[in-house]
Amino acid sequence: MQWKARHIAVVGLGQSGLSAAQLCLARGARVTLWDEAPAAKAQIAAAPLLSQGAQLRCGAEAAVALAATGLNAFDTVVVSPGVPARTAFEAAAAAGCEVIGELELASRVLTAPILLVGGTNGKSTVTAWTAAMLTAAGNKVFVGGNFGTPLSAAVGAGDDVLVVEISSFQAERVPSLRARAHALLNITEDHLDRYVSFAAYAHAKGNPFANMTAEDVAVLPAGDGLCAEQAARGAARVVTFSQCEDGALVSPHAGELLHRGRGDAYALDSLRVKGRHNVANACAAVALASSVGAPRAAIAQALASFAGLDHRHELVAEVAGVRFYNDSKATNVGAVVAALGGMAEARAVLIAGGRDKHGDYAPLVEALRARGRAAVLIGEAAARIAAAIGAAVPWRRADSLEEAVHIAADLANSGDGVLLSPACSSYDMFPSYKARGDAFVAAVRRLEEDSP
Ligand code: ADP
Repeated sequence: MQWKARHIAVVGLGQSGLSAAQLCLARGARVTLWDEAPAAKAQIAAAPLLSQGAQLRCGAEAAVALAATGLNAFDTVVVSPGVPARTAFEAAAAAGCEVIGELELASRVLTAPILLVGGTNGKSTVTAWTAAMLTAAGNKVFVGGNFGTPLSAAVGAGDDVLVVEISSFQAERVPSLRARAHALLNITEDHLDRYVSFAAYAHAKGNPFANMTAEDVAVLPAGDGLCAEQAARGAARVVTFSQCEDGALVSPHAGELLHRGRGDAYALDSLRVKGRHNVANACAAVALASSVGAPRAAIAQALASFAGLDHRHELVAEVAGVRFYNDSKATNVGAVVAALGGMAEARAVLIAGGRDKHGDYAPLVEALRARGRAAVLIGEAAARIAAAIGAAVPWRRADSLEEAVHIAADLANSGDGVLLSPACSSYDMFPSYKARGDAFVAAVRRLEEDSP
């Protein structure tokens, strides 16, 4: 890519936008930053870039330009993942300007192999786990993307391999990014507040496959037609994984996790993370790490030492024979179905609700019928979830998470689990899923202190 004479617009001053702009400036491009935030806020975020010569367009001026043809004069527009479609993007593309995302931009500079991890659920877990395997193998590993550090920050760091979590929003704009391997873990309903249809969401997730060749590897859930259809948009060789004993190339068999392609076996009882979905995640991570030749011993070491990430099916405490789990990161129905289905306890009281994402709660109700003792509902989505549950299991409403924890403790029997797995985003009651999880943990701790 020719940088020096290029005029690049970076839209959205979040972490990845700032990092993309920094990369462009370092390469000698002319950069204009765009954000609809008011000047006072945008100037603070942009300050280090403005001092390097970037221009800033913000507030109402930016909003008007993005609703019209304000980007047509640029050579390249880099769109941050949080910025939904704008008239100006289509107009600029029609005017011959390339409209790309930050991952695409960074991938044009980086030369180390890229391993992508996509899917509705499990991305961060598999990204971190794969990176741990490759680190144990002695590599210098970049781990980031949608999770943590933007990929642009890897430029110049001299990593041997780049393990990158990719969201559907990021995958919307990767016209030439080529991954050495791409795991698409699952596709279930999410983000229907942004996409016109589930098919459009699935298609966005599948975009990176289109650039892959027969030398590359697509890591896919066995028997999942939706993911297979996306992978078929490119020529990558398929490696299947599964949490069941179904003979998938990487799958469990008689207490071991087998990679049949390599003839490697790993002890399954060495895993520290719980929940059956984490067996699937382990298999996907083994497939990814194996695709770039990580040795068996390094993979085995990281398989056994990985303790899981916070706020994902995390055991908080046991109070009066009831185990409390923080799964605040479960922001869609698919994650809750996996969490309930993978519980070690026979029955669970589910705490769910938050900001509704306009999806279908029927699969959640089915999972509750199978494993739920009761449900406690919070936040804006409470009424919709209650209507979906009907009489399938008993349910109560709570005005706060603290109250929800108390009600759940009352409803649970000794030997049950209480699971915060909201199926919704947190923004109606909390600034983030982390804050929601922290509030849950604090409430459980108080319950623990007050219990006789
Ligand atoms: P993501 O980065 O895709 O959001 P995380 O690893 O952060 O994925 O996990 C998000 C939520 O999904 C958590 O609630 C977790 O328990 C659940 N989860 C993790 N792996 C899977 C999986 N393979 N299938 C379904 N749900 C999963």
